[in-house]
Amino acid sequence: MEETTTTKTEILDRRGLFKTGAAAVLGGTLLRSARAAEDDPAPGIAPPVGAPRSARDEQLIQLIKNGVTMEEIAALKNPIAATPQEAVRLLKAGNARFFSGQARRPEVSAQERRAQILGQTPFAVVLGCSDSRVPIEVVLDQGLGDIFVIRVAGNIVESSTLGSIEYAVEHLKSKVVVVMGHEGCGAVKAAMLSAGQRSAEPKNVQYLLDRIVPAVSNLPEIRDTKARMREAVIANVRRQVFHLKQNPVIQQAVKQNRITVIGAFYEITSGIVDFMETDEELRIDRSAVISSGRAR
Ligand SMILES: [Zn+2]
Repeated sequence: MEETTTTKTEILDRRGLFKTGAAAVLGGTLLRSARAAEDDPAPGIAPPVGAPRSARDEQLIQLIKNGVTMEEIAALKNPIAATPQEAVRLLKAGNARFFSGQARRPEVSAQERRAQILGQTPFAVVLGCSDSRVPIEVVLDQGLGDIFVIRVAGNIVESSTLGSIEYAVEHLKSKVVVVMGHEGCGAVKAAMLSAGQRSAEPKNVQYLLDRIVPAVSNLPEIRDTKARMREAVIANVRRQVFHLKQNPVIQQAVKQNRITVIGAFYEITSGIVDFMETDEELRIDRSAVISSGRAR
């Protein structure tokens, strides 16, 4: 789709870049790829999509022009966020690009992709739902190697998801852990059914729902269906963040200011992610409706 705006001159420029930069560095295999890519309109550098390229992307393109090594590309990428606050800012900026139709594909070249074999330093960990309408990298406009994503129905914290998060916090350089729920979550909706209805589900589905039920069993009375569902999803996010914060590995990392743990709500209809960062926003016994600010 984006190719329709690409001019012939730009295509020629990209071919030139690819041959002088990447092929010089990466050798015979790439030379073959370059020849094969004669029919590919954009073999070396990805076309700009949506927003203008970032300063980092421009820097990367310059490096490629000058014949960059994979190590240099990896070093440029690492670290993308120096602090937890910067990591949160990057996620917010990415979502703003997404919901305003300015999303860009952050990896600008095949070389950058290849350089990732040297390692990963995702600046964020996101525990999200498996729902097909909530692809984490897409809605936060992040690229390859940027986010360590765990997806499970209802974004629940249990042994395997917790193990994945512990791994990212201890061994990668992630600066923020986000639990992200979303509008219209089927898992949360199912957890609000009666015990009898839930018992009709397969055993492993029941296991999932059992992790959500405590979060949604004492919700305030809200008549509006959409508002009630939003409150249920947010209550579940708060509950899962609460469980995360009980974990000693997470606690230690927070104490040392290596990470911050936050919640988020993705609204499918608008594309907007609301982030919950303060203790008050994440308090699990809060009974106010976050969307309207109404107290119970
Ligand atoms: Zn869901």
